[in-house]
Amino acid sequence: SAEKTVLSIQSFVTHGYVGNKAATFPLQLHGFDVDNINTVSLSNHSGYPIICGHRMDLQEYETLMDGIRANNFLSSYRYVLTGYINNADIVRKVRDTVHEIRTLREKEGKKLTFVCDPVMGDDGIMYCKEEVLQAYKDIIGSADISTPNYYEASLLSGINITDMKTALQAADWFHAQGTKIVIIKSFRMKEDPQNLQFLVSSMEGEGKTPKRFTGVFPYLEGRYTGTGDVFSAVFLAFSHQHPLEVAVGKTMGVLHDVIVATRKEGGDGKSSLMSRELRVTRSVQSLLNPTMPVEVKPM
Ligand code: ATP
Repeated sequence: SAEKTVLSIQSFVTHGYVGNKAATFPLQLHGFDVDNINTVSLSNHSGYPIICGHRMDLQEYETLMDGIRANNFLSSYRYVLTGYINNADIVRKVRDTVHEIRTLREKEGKKLTFVCDPVMGDDGIMYCKEEVLQAYKDIIGSADISTPNYYEASLLSGINITDMKTALQAADWFHAQGTKIVIIKSFRMKEDPQNLQFLVSSMEGEGKTPKRFTGVFPYLEGRYTGTGDVFSAVFLAFSHQHPLEVAVGKTMGVLHDVIVATRKEGGDGKSSLMSRELRVTRSVQSLLNPTMPVEVKPM
């Protein structure tokens, strides 16, 4: 269908697949035009011992937005997708950008969906500045969809996610801020260490009770980088054509396939940093149509 356009505000790396490098290819495969704002331009992601390059500041962000605005590109974006930013001023400014695009499009009777992945850390380790957390707390309510990992959902909500009960409480925190849909992509429960659980919570209108969905998928040994970035991009693509629960199931299936493909090429996710890089380009068929969507059950 029409209007497959995304403004994607994420990192850029020369080597490897995180941020815009991980998100753009899957989105383009799905037929989306992706306009990138690269919040950083680095040689590689920050897990490597040496990182060289450049980080955008607020002024540079505003300069790019000035150009985009002056050429009347702003109202063309059906989606805004954000990932790694790690600059509190830019995070706050993104809310203004979203508001500006929304207002322009509303005048034309068109919709904007803001997909916000509040990229801050992983498994108890925060890799962003403290002030960035506060900035996300301030703007998350303007997200139509947020896709935190369990640690980011915990940081934002102040609720330590260890099981479904706490995941639900965290999801309610997002809804209380104004976030319509929250997807807590994975968490591991003590009782079931072989699997990962997820929670999808969707608040249709104010005062209504949220619709919840959950499911499980196998935990694959190893740690991979860029999984969240591929997730939010692929989810956006599927959600354009499918209902929420179908899009989530397909996206989970894609991540499974991509990790399996990565392992087949020797990426075991532990022996070296290189082995953690997702082989995003080797899974074209799966990115479009995963071999097995994960079952998504209403709660
Ligand atoms: P972000 O920091 O961008 O929010 P993340 O990559 O830390 O995201 P995770 O929940 O760890 O977020 O992973 C995202 C998705 O990638 C999961 O929902 C799952 O589908 C897949 N995934 C990541 N790691 C594994 C793993 N070890 N085994 C199976 N699936 C995984």
